[in-house]
Amino acid sequence: MRLILLGPPGAGKGTQAQRLVQKHGIVQLSTGDMLRAAVAAGTPIGLKAKELMDRGALVPDEVVVGIIADRIEQPDARKGFVLDGFPRTVAQAESLERLLAERGHKLDGVIELKVDEGMLLGRIEKRVREMTERGEKPRADDNAEAMKKRLEAYRSQTAPLSDHYRGKGLLKPVDGMAPIDAVTQAIDGHLRGSSAHA
Ligand code: ADP
Repeated sequence: MRLILLGPPGAGKGTQAQRLVQKHGIVQLSTGDMLRAAVAAGTPIGLKAKELMDRGALVPDEVVVGIIADRIEQPDARKGFVLDGFPRTVAQAESLERLLAERGHKLDGVIELKVDEGMLLGRIEKRVREMTERGEKPRADDNAEAMKKRLEAYRSQTAPLSDHYRGKGLLKPVDGMAPIDAVTQAIDGHLRGSSAHA
């Protein structure tokens, strides 16, 4: 199974991705996590990405497309994957389509977590509190200023992907404001092809 999770920062993509991993035995490919690992390791990509990420801007398409192209080749991704945070621009989506077509693969669906933008900053602030309580260092971009930029980037560069995938008949909208388990059930319903959860 090859899926995309689409939705603004704080929509709950990571949480639902983990559940899809457990249920379907696929891997979660989060470009945000991969870039943060590159930043932490001080790799050339990390050095280039850090400043852009910290201020809530997108890193260049060719950087993330390169990362994903390598990653989907790994043996653990052969059974399938859920992409979380990629694609984020129409150009990235087109690159992904080429990468998959070259390998004879196709996407099974694009799950869009629909949320009320006014709630997102609160969710991010909650994540900062929870990480701090666990003794973890909060993300450098989980602050009001970077969040504003991340939402702007989402609106202008990523939101057009909804139309892109709707046009291909792949878009599966889900109410991301519902409780976590209800969101999971709605996603399951879509994946079973049930209209009851649409
Ligand atoms: P968010 O919570 O904003 O969805 P992510 O963890 O997915 O956060 O990404 C954090 C940052 O990493 C983004 O703001 C951006 O700078 C960079 N990034 C992640 N994925 C991509 C991508 N597909 N294209 C460009 N930049 C990306």
